[in-house]
Amino acid sequence: MYIDCTSIAQQWENEIRAKIALKDYAPTLAIVTTDYDDASKVYVRNKIKIAQKVGINAQVYDLSGQSESDWYITLEHLDVDGVIVQLPLPPHLNADWICNSVAHWQDVDGLNHINQGKLASGSKDGFVPCTPKGILYLMNALNVPKWCDVVIVGRSNLVGRPLAHLLTNNDYTVTLCHSKTENLQKHLERADVIISAVGKPKFIAGDLKGKLIIDVGINRDENGKLCGDVDPQLAENNDVTPVPKGVGQFTVLALMDNLT
Ligand code: NDP
Repeated sequence: MYIDCTSIAQQWENEIRAKIALKDYAPTLAIVTTDYDDASKVYVRNKIKIAQKVGINAQVYDLSGQSESDWYITLEHLDVDGVIVQLPLPPHLNADWICNSVAHWQDVDGLNHINQGKLASGSKDGFVPCTPKGILYLMNALNVPKWCDVVIVGRSNLVGRPLAHLLTNNDYTVTLCHSKTENLQKHLERADVIISAVGKPKFIAGDLKGKLIIDVGINRDENGKLCGDVDPQLAENNDVTPVPKGVGQFTVLALMDNLT
């Protein structure tokens, strides 16, 4: 069965709007971007739309064609509540350095080393990266018990690695798998919850039953249609988050929640 993520996301959107309405000002989010990647333009438009819905003032800074030092100057002077750098950046820019030059108290994407380090050390006062934070919201909404054996596939700094820390900090027991993991299927078969952030269509497949499968992947299938990492056949015997209308909604809402 596919999980109705949209109604859970609607509930979170309402909660965020209510929290912001209690403030005496509208928080401001700076989205720093370029014209390098077409998909990014869609993501930026979506972030602006959701920001408006919850009462956040989103400002876009287009730094197309600017040098790396221009980026540092711009980022240093942004007088806003939160800053995100829309990835990917063109190859002449060092994305890691640029993300790390966002002040840690404005780093609402939670991607700089200070916030990643806080999460890894179990501290609760940093910004948590958006996709992991969104997945935790979803798991709480679904009342996933703490005894569940959670297997994450993918160890990127964007998703898998911070997610493993976040779920561990929240008392889940986690196995983090990657491309060098031997006998991945064995890990998948014993899991109660599988979270896939690999980026390959039909990657999670085979004889799996009775599991919660959270599909983070965003891919195109052989017909060019948007799909996740999970073989659609698995929705017959497991609870699966759909793609689209799945985890992506929680990622954007987590960003907004980081501004409340
Ligand atoms: P990366 O390419 O950075 O990481 C992919 C991970 O998958 C790596 O850790 C890699 O392992 C692992 N992997 C690759 N092949 C295998 C394999 N055969 N067996 C086991 N593990 C494997 O991707 P991201 O984390 O940035 O994104 C993953 C997917 O999630 C993409 O489709 C992306 O578009 C999507 N995404 C969706 C979001 C959402 O909001 N829904 C947000 C962010 C990403 P290794 O480290 O060993 O190379």
